[in-house]
Amino acid sequence: MNASSHDPNLATADPELAALVNQEAQRQRECLRLIASENYVSRAVLEATGTCLTNKYAEGYPGRRYYEGMDFIDPIESLAITRAKELFGAEHANVQPYSGSPANLAALLALCSPGDTILGLSLPAGGHLTHGWKVSATGIYYKAVQYGVRRDNHRIDLDEVRALAREHRPKLIWVGHSAYPRTLDFAAFREIADEVGAFVAADIAHIAGLIAGGVHPSPIPYADVVTTTTHKTLRGPRGGLILSLKKHAKKIDKAVFPGLQGGPHNHSTAAKAVAFAEAKTPEFRTYAAQIVTNAKALAEALRARGIDLVTGGTDNHLLLVDLTSRGIGGRKASSVLNSCGIELNANSIPFDPRKPFDPSGLRVGLAAVTSRGLDASHMPAIAEWIDRGIQGAVKLDQGGNDGFIAEIRGQIASLLADFPAPGLS
Ligand SMILES: *Cc1c(COP(=O)(O)O)cnc(C)c1O
Repeated sequence: MNASSHDPNLATADPELAALVNQEAQRQRECLRLIASENYVSRAVLEATGTCLTNKYAEGYPGRRYYEGMDFIDPIESLAITRAKELFGAEHANVQPYSGSPANLAALLALCSPGDTILGLSLPAGGHLTHGWKVSATGIYYKAVQYGVRRDNHRIDLDEVRALAREHRPKLIWVGHSAYPRTLDFAAFREIADEVGAFVAADIAHIAGLIAGGVHPSPIPYADVVTTTTHKTLRGPRGGLILSLKKHAKKIDKAVFPGLQGGPHNHSTAAKAVAFAEAKTPEFRTYAAQIVTNAKALAEALRARGIDLVTGGTDNHLLLVDLTSRGIGGRKASSVLNSCGIELNANSIPFDPRKPFDPSGLRVGLAAVTSRGLDASHMPAIAEWIDRGIQGAVKLDQGGNDGFIAEIRGQIASLLADFPAPGLS
């Protein structure tokens, strides 16, 4: 078969797969998407990820490639690099990491040797697997020591960080989180690291968009290395990015390729470039500020309904609901809320008495709904739906009826009909 004479579109070539993609698009239009690590990318970013750049191999870096035909790939990657550096004010950028986890592995490969001690926020306290959790490669190949949050206020315990750093003399200290609702003090981590001669690696995966938009302090110039995903609050394609001081540039680049990866995903690189340009605009600054405004407004509205929040509120894009006083586990609550059209995830809370698979909390993020244009005036309704959904879930457990599910679903669909999803309308 000649591929060029028979080149049907997806719907014709593979109707089964195309139908599933369309159903997912419809789900993303109709759901109130509150998963803190997710977003809606713009049509432009979506388009860039679906280009012919996926056909090209490009091992190496602009101007130093192992393949021919780099006429347009080099300028595309250079554009992404320049835009990333400008956006964050960084000395060096590597735009090739396939995602956040490989970016973190590359940072470790660049700055540490196997067996070195690393210090990171523990997973149950809101950290990420790749900061040394025991089942992660970062906990297997490195001697990981973990810090937590304070028992009294659930904030990162800098005294503990300092004490552990002095005791274990880590080579590298991670600062960053996947589920922590408060501002990070990058300067304090630099100070502690300097005391023991450690590198600081800031993982801003969740808050990169807030930093780019000027509503969270930047880890630059405090961190030696900054890693991030590009697909969370930053609103880019799935992917990773490493920023660093110039003095680490060579090591970082060598760690990404050939240390860890082969050819970069050029279609993702292109989409990253588009997203970095979008994040530089005044509209994005407004967007980032609105995420935080919405998160604070939702926190207020939930508290007004007697729903407990870890640390009592938020400084960033996410909230951690503590269900302990509600008599229901996170898994059951998140599953019933999902049936109601409210998509969020069960999450451990600090010092969680329940098991990680069915923890006591819910993680709620505002980046995606803010991308649709929802503002603070919509947060009381969202709080009400969450509250009714949780109460309904408790009653369901006791044999109550499920009429509330269709009711909430309908109300959410009717609100969202007025707020088209970027890229999907
Ligand atoms: C999401 C996240 C990552 C990992 O990103 P993937 O793209 O899922 O590999 C790393 N670090 C933090 C803090 C994250 O939140």
